[in-house]
Amino acid sequence: MKSDLAILKSTLDAAGAVTVLTGAGISSDSGVPTFRGTDGLWRNFRAEDLATPQAFSRDPRLVWEWYNWRRELIASKQPNPAHHAIVELERRTGRFWLITQNVDGLHRSAGSEKLSEIHGNIWMVRCTACGRIEENRDVPIPFLPSCRQCGGLLRPHIIWFGESLGHEDLMRSTAALKQCDVLLVIGTSGVVYPAAGFAAVAKEAGAFVAEINPEPTPQSELVDLVLRGRAKEIMPLLL
Ligand code: NAD
Ligand code: ZN
Repeated sequence: MKSDLAILKSTLDAAGAVTVLTGAGISSDSGVPTFRGTDGLWRNFRAEDLATPQAFSRDPRLVWEWYNWRRELIASKQPNPAHHAIVELERRTGRFWLITQNVDGLHRSAGSEKLSEIHGNIWMVRCTACGRIEENRDVPIPFLPSCRQCGGLLRPHIIWFGESLGHEDLMRSTAALKQCDVLLVIGTSGVVYPAAGFAAVAKEAGAFVAEINPEPTPQSELVDLVLRGRAKEIMPLLL
């Protein structure tokens, strides 16, 4: 009998269209903390208390301090073999799309090009007054950062809890989920919507859905195949 790994490998080999959904778990192998573990805490704040528009309007300095801490953590981190395996999958697959919830930019550093960073990117800032978006890699970022066009307060270009995904990202992601032969769900706890519903969208449209995660998730029941383990160990074996 074929192992689950061999089944997924041959399914991927035969697939014309592959979509990948990633979460914080893929970057935990690079040393970036997830939000759910205790190492994701900062001064005893939970992410849900800081990554919101309310928190930013109440105390922008506190929120920027937290982002400075996260920027500093991420700045020294490198893509791992799982990020690189996804780049290879992109290169060899006819129709490919990567949807990531991660804001760390590690997929881009690895070389991924066909991707939606649906929750934004920690290295981008956006003006709260005029909407101008620009890259800013300062670590630390000087407080409080202001727009060079209009002087308005800058915020991280991130989709916070309670905010909607960008229209373009949502359209592209939905199309990629509905049109793929295989969906790989890697390192996401499946509790943050709308991404938590993406596996179901692909499954309903007829895709073969596989989960790669060392822990069970609410999605585990719904998928066709589960590989329990770390992304950086499993992903290279699939190629
Ligand atoms: P999460 O923290 O809720 O869940 C992480 C998941 O990864 C868990 O299911 C865990 O079992 C799994 N995991 C842990 N180590 C793994 C490994 N080595 N290989 C594979 N899986 C592993 O993360 P989420 O589902 O992405 O949702 C949290 C939200 O937090 C997202 O909106 C995201 O934008 C944000 N976030 C981003 C980063 C980042 O950019 N790196 C980090 C923390 C949180
Ligand atoms: Zn501005």
